[in-house]
Amino acid sequence: MATHHTKMLIIGSGPAGYSAAIYAARAMLEPIVVQGLQPGGQLTITTDVENYPGFRDVVQGPWLMEEMKAQAEHVGTRMIWDTIVSVDLENGAPFRAVGDSGDEYIGETLVIATGAQAKWLGVPGEMELGGKGVSACATCDGFFYRGKKVAVIGGGNTAVEEALYLTNHSDDVTLIHRRDSLRAEKILQERLFANPKITVLWNKAVDGFVGGENGMLHHLALTDTVTGEASTLEVDGAFVAIGHAPATELFKGKLPVDESGYLLTEPGTPKTAIPGVFAAGDVTDHVYRQAVTAAGMGCMAALDGERFLAARAHAAKETEAAE
Ligand SMILES: Cc1cc2nc3c(=O)[nH]c(=O)nc-3n(C[C@H](O)[C@H](O)[C@H](O)COP(=O)(O)OP(=O)(O)OC[C@H]3O[C@@H](n4cnc5c(N)ncnc54)[C@H](O)[C@@H]3O)c2cc1C
Repeated sequence: MATHHTKMLIIGSGPAGYSAAIYAARAMLEPIVVQGLQPGGQLTITTDVENYPGFRDVVQGPWLMEEMKAQAEHVGTRMIWDTIVSVDLENGAPFRAVGDSGDEYIGETLVIATGAQAKWLGVPGEMELGGKGVSACATCDGFFYRGKKVAVIGGGNTAVEEALYLTNHSDDVTLIHRRDSLRAEKILQERLFANPKITVLWNKAVDGFVGGENGMLHHLALTDTVTGEASTLEVDGAFVAIGHAPATELFKGKLPVDESGYLLTEPGTPKTAIPGVFAAGDVTDHVYRQAVTAAGMGCMAALDGERFLAARAHAAKETEAAE
């Protein structure tokens, strides 16, 4: 078991973690990225990415994340394949974290970039057809379904927002909800019901996603939650919109979170309630949830971390001079 020291410890290896690492390494902070169970983050489970700036043509999610990792390593980041299982933030900087491997990590600053996971239904075909018609992000993938027939599954704000967003691309959007009323805010519901491109299927549970001969999603298998009657719905794309779970278990009781578990930061900054601890990307963002916004927040966290260290060094010098 080893102890690793760094000026900036970054937990998480999605766009937020890698971008923080690129900036930190170029500021000579010799960052360490602890990658976690999903090196590269959420984009490694998707195929086509068409909205990350800098690429004229569609790129593949796993490839994009490999490039970000290579860039971070090229400028001097140490990547460690480990998962943090506990953190000690109580005594302020430096912060101590322990990995699943038993290794200890001591960071003079800490960037939390542990991301979030979309919640899935857990029904047959869902994972197999991921990226082949099944998605959890309309902003990311809606564009691929221009002029096609799509469905959104869910009844909260996210589902209604996704359905409304999809009407920019499709004239045939079906919202499928297992109950007979929506949880979404009234104003969103009004917009939904007023939109002629959206049909709502009430009291229907999705039991499975079924592919066609071409390997792409062909239809949804549904059951009426009141009558038990089975039916199918042919669609080209289906968007599961039943919420996201931010990876904040480690920080419960240690850092403030909102009612959904997202880390709270000072508005417009990645600063958490503890000086020297920063949060970036989907772990703190339930609104935008994009690779480019996560990367932007990672950059901000590294720059603020650098400033934190500089201010601390300056204060130490002044104290020394006064003594
Ligand atoms: C199917 C799908 C398709 C998408 N398509 C697009 C798209 O086309 N364009 C777009 O902009 N966005 C897309 N997104 C959204 C985008 O992937 C996320 O917004 C982005 O990945 C968030 O980056 P992040 O760095 O905050 O976190 P994540 O990518 O979620 O990464 C989190 C990282 O934290 C690590 N981690 C978690 N817990 C620990 C721990 N305890 N110890 C160490 N490490 C830990 C994980 O291993 C992972 O590396 C898509 C998302 C999904 C699910």
